[in-house]
Amino acid sequence: MLDKVVIANRGEIALRILRACKELGIKTVAVHSKADESLMHVRLADESVCIGPNNPAQSYLNIPAIISAAEVTNATAIHPGYGFLSENADFAEQVERSGFTFIGPSSDVIRLMGDKVCAIKAMQQAGVPTVPGSNGALDDDHAKTLLIAREIGYPVIIKAAGGGGGRGMRVVHQEADLINSVDLTRAEAKANFNNDMVYLEKFLGNPRHVEFQVIADGKGNAIHLGDRDCSLQRRHQKVIEEAPAPGINKAKREEVAQACIAACHEINYRGAGTFEFLYENGEFYFIEMNTRVQVEHPVTELISGVDIVKEQLLIASGHPLSISQKDVRLEGHAFECRINAEDAKTFMPSPGKVDQFHAPGGNGIRIDSHLYNGYTIPPYYDSLIGKIISYGPDRETALTRMRNALDEAVIEGVKTNIPLHQDLVNDRHFREGGVSIHYLEKKLDKQ
Ligand code: ADP
Repeated sequence: MLDKVVIANRGEIALRILRACKELGIKTVAVHSKADESLMHVRLADESVCIGPNNPAQSYLNIPAIISAAEVTNATAIHPGYGFLSENADFAEQVERSGFTFIGPSSDVIRLMGDKVCAIKAMQQAGVPTVPGSNGALDDDHAKTLLIAREIGYPVIIKAAGGGGGRGMRVVHQEADLINSVDLTRAEAKANFNNDMVYLEKFLGNPRHVEFQVIADGKGNAIHLGDRDCSLQRRHQKVIEEAPAPGINKAKREEVAQACIAACHEINYRGAGTFEFLYENGEFYFIEMNTRVQVEHPVTELISGVDIVKEQLLIASGHPLSISQKDVRLEGHAFECRINAEDAKTFMPSPGKVDQFHAPGGNGIRIDSHLYNGYTIPPYYDSLIGKIISYGPDRETALTRMRNALDEAVIEGVKTNIPLHQDLVNDRHFREGGVSIHYLEKKLDKQ
């Protein structure tokens, strides 16, 4: 078993990782910025090291500082969490080279999946369905580009191979705009991602976001834990997630899940990962793979009974997967509401002191949050302050429990998006299930 793990993150996920380490008897080192001295997991960790000032570029993104912290504390491994350096192949490589275990896949795999053109090729080889497109980078041959787009049919979307976080994409509705858009996207990609490779694919008009959770041990075993629907998004940020995705054909779901497992074998994947798809008219289209634990992993944990973060730690310790596919039982339904410190209508961040925090509870309610009475939310980071996760034997029960939990929650001193969630869990279309990725923004536009 790993002896001591550096938790290279903050907030709720740092606490989540700390709890999993404690369950496995692994010692913990919290690394934090100056502003984060009073984070709950910093207080609970065996050791803590301040790695820099408030600015994340100088702390949570500061590779030498994090590796030095591992060295001075004699740690054996580094867990990157999500966001920050979690999908930075250079970080993973430097961690490996410095003699520590990176809790995640190899740096080569992170690099491969970080290049969307390479990732799509690898997926196609494994039989994962992808969006009809250019099947590779576009070159300077304009006539060829025009032909590809004409064959696919408009609208199309131009994407940067190195893009991320919803940046580096441009939708083209008519042929007259195509070449200009390719050139513009290429110039932006060069400036923003230092990689001018762009590709083209069909733009799907009204898809859902459905993703599959996988875990692989890098020793030839890979399993899936079913899917999640994360269609309720604002500015490409997920707001509510659920598992399983409602209304998906059983045979289709199984077919795509098996293709994801084949892809894990194809790229020799190790650790927890997510295959993200757009889903439209009963078909799945791969868009990208996330090579890390995700914010929404708890909904899968509740329907599968598998502790994904513990599995990550066990795999990094060299253990084979603790379960096989035939042991996986997906039962019931789960929802997750992401609670942000922000105005529920304007979405303006609302950092500050939490005067009162009362977590909801009861049957089927799980709270992943680092909040406590008197904690001050700093203004420098993401506004996520916790997640309310509900479970029930069926979708309706899980949703009712979520509704009750949102009503019970008390967070005073800062504004939160709980009123938005209360509105959404009562929304007729959301209650029916299966809304598209544009649903929330359209609803907000009308208000
Ligand atoms: P990023 O790495 O920037 O998150 P993705 O490839 O995951 O990029 O795409 C981000 C979002 O852009 C998707 O969730 C979806 O909303 C939209 N998108 C991407 N590709 C398409 C497509 N082919 N058709 C329609 N929407 C798309």
